[in-house]
Amino acid sequence: MSSLPITIDSVRKVYGSYVALDGVSLDVRAGEFLTLLGPSGSGKTTLLMALAGFVRPDSGRLWLGDRDITRLAPNKRDIGIVFQNYALFPHMNVLANVEYPLALRKMPKAEARRRALEALARVKLEGLSERDIAALSGGQRQRVALARAIVFEPRVMLMDEPLSALDKNLRETMQYEIRRLHDDLGITTIYVTHDQREALTMSDRVVVMNSGRIEQIGTPQRVYDRPSTRFVAEFMGEANMMPPGSVRAIDGAATSRETLMIRAESFHLDAKLAGRDGVALEGILRAKAFRGDNWLLTLAPDAGQAVLVSIPSALAGACAELRLGQRVTAYAPADKVHAIPGAKG
Ligand code: ADP
Ligand code: MG
Repeated sequence: MSSLPITIDSVRKVYGSYVALDGVSLDVRAGEFLTLLGPSGSGKTTLLMALAGFVRPDSGRLWLGDRDITRLAPNKRDIGIVFQNYALFPHMNVLANVEYPLALRKMPKAEARRRALEALARVKLEGLSERDIAALSGGQRQRVALARAIVFEPRVMLMDEPLSALDKNLRETMQYEIRRLHDDLGITTIYVTHDQREALTMSDRVVVMNSGRIEQIGTPQRVYDRPSTRFVAEFMGEANMMPPGSVRAIDGAATSRETLMIRAESFHLDAKLAGRDGVALEGILRAKAFRGDNWLLTLAPDAGQAVLVSIPSALAGACAELRLGQRVTAYAPADKVHAIPGAKG
């Protein structure tokens, strides 16, 4: 099955006076796994609904390959969807739910059954085809929803927070399963989450959204290590925003006049680990907390905001002995010190 690229061109959607999508443009590559990441209300669902055909943009265009789908009916778009609120039919068993999109498309019964069973095998539900939906666990229901979305061999998959109702372990298993399914089928996929770790784990590229606009598009590593805005830096992980002058170069040289972002885990307490090419920060230890895989230290520099420093437990020999009120120097290697473009102190 060949997958298709998606082109989103200047899509705008306003509800009353609320701008849900403020001219969003985005090219999704054929076969790509792309994630929309952003806080609640940033427009993620509205964008997926526009692609699926359930929301009509006020302006802008949507393309699937070279086909303009902006005004096409939802069932003509060749798009598989797994939405949180796009529930399974509780009065039909598993097999009937998965056959449903094929029945809609008037596929002969025997062929529909064969394909539905194949889709159920793909999501590891073979053997449960006669089960009632009510008798399934949350994870099994999500697998049925996945099978129903892939059964008609769509060219594109849209998934809106499909795992948010599941507990942490099951969520991580399903993240892996969904990514594997994507890799097997090669379907262009747009996935929505507000969970930054989920986005980093699953995606080829991440699109960070804020207030109906795209803040940044990039690979997980790029967006995490090199955020282009303060919003992205602070939305992804523990970011310290260091105003100009709050850190010094280890060799004593002056540092940037821009705001620097240094992640909590980029600091070390041992100057040798950070290397000579980097920055140092001195502060009073205000708090320390053991978090299992790391220690989180809070340092109060002489001026400015408190700084979070996370030390992996495996390297934390000295942390247990640190006393509150003690003066501590933390170091970060130069390649982990990132100037936020345009963010002057
Ligand atoms: P997200 O999925 O990122 O949480 P949404 O796309 O659901 O964001 O919503 C963006 C904004 O648009 C929200 O503030 C929401 O209240 C508003 N919105 C969404 N759908 C409607 C609607 N049908 N009517 C009015 N406002 C809506
Ligand atoms: Mg949403």
